[in-house]
Amino acid sequence: MDMIPFNRAGALGRERELMAEALARGSILGDGPFGKRCEALLEECTGAHRALLTTSCTHALEMAALLLDIRPGDEVVVPSFTFVSAANAFVLRGATPVFAEIRGDTLNLDERLLPPLLTERTRAVVAVHYGGVACEMDTILAAAGKAGVPVVEDAAHALFGGYRGRPLGTLGALGALSFHETKNFSCGEGGALLLNDGSFVGRAEILREKGTDRSRFWRGEVDKYTWRDVGSSWVLSDLSAAFLLGQLEQHERVQARRRALWERYRAALADWAARHGVSLPHIPGDCAPAWHLFHLLLPDAAARAAFLAHMHAGGIAAVFHYLPLHTSPMGARFGGRAGILPVTESVAARIARLPFYTLMTDDEQDRVIARVLDFAP
Ligand SMILES: *Cc1c(COP(=O)(O)O)cnc(C)c1O
Repeated sequence: MDMIPFNRAGALGRERELMAEALARGSILGDGPFGKRCEALLEECTGAHRALLTTSCTHALEMAALLLDIRPGDEVVVPSFTFVSAANAFVLRGATPVFAEIRGDTLNLDERLLPPLLTERTRAVVAVHYGGVACEMDTILAAAGKAGVPVVEDAAHALFGGYRGRPLGTLGALGALSFHETKNFSCGEGGALLLNDGSFVGRAEILREKGTDRSRFWRGEVDKYTWRDVGSSWVLSDLSAAFLLGQLEQHERVQARRRALWERYRAALADWAARHGVSLPHIPGDCAPAWHLFHLLLPDAAARAAFLAHMHAGGIAAVFHYLPLHTSPMGARFGGRAGILPVTESVAARIARLPFYTLMTDDEQDRVIARVLDFAP
């Protein structure tokens, strides 16, 4: 039988047609008509003041670090249980990451443990909405606000998710989105920065265009463009944007399908999980999830290893997830070491993710479910 992959990419709608249209224009430069349409759609759906497409979420986070003027010696609070870019974007500017503990239920930054991490050197807090389930944002925003520190949302998993009726990615000063192949909406490699405060717009456009005011030049606001600031090359090609538009314009159908798959996993696995001491994802009442992934927490590391081996032997690509940043070789340079964040370390050792993608068929999901039910830790 064929292997069921962890993720499968593919066209969801008009991607081919839109890419052909982009090619037929004779120009696929970034900031073209397809990029503008993606940005308008993102602004309309999230209510962000401005959305700027970027070449990745990592680059959107790097732009955020520049926009916030992060400098050597600054501290940035990041959850240890996350992707490296949430820390690296700030480390590139010379900042010291301060690794925060996560909650054992949502696997998001533990808001109750945040205040003592905020010092007079803290310049940002990065909130990562794990799996597309919101962090406890009101508490995080209040603690950061009291300390005068902006919150950057790493919303790589979270587009179209919400918290108390507000779209994720728009609650902090800045929100970073990913359109990497593994995310709900993709163009292979891509991202966006949501600017939730109008004062960021002018400088953000310059940073993204190699430090020049080329964006204003294209709009006819200046008659030549010049070097204005630091910057890099973070504009997404219009060919990628055309593909992305084909995905984003299907967002209602995509999210509905992912929700159905997610709820089907939960319904099918609830009894098995309860019998074997396995936890399924937790969604607090005030969160509208973005249905990014479906994970299990096995009772211990040995059970997780046995579970992954069992799934692989059955032709199913179940996978683990983040290795804690604070116990990594790079994290050690910032004072990280085993033992300091017990929830993070325990979760990282016990988590497993099941295959979960928009194009997954019911038959494929039935095979995954049957194989899981066949496992006893
Ligand atoms: C995928 C991911 C990123 C990085 O996204 P890229 O677009 O690949 O740079 C950052 N943060 C989180 C939480 C992610 O899952």
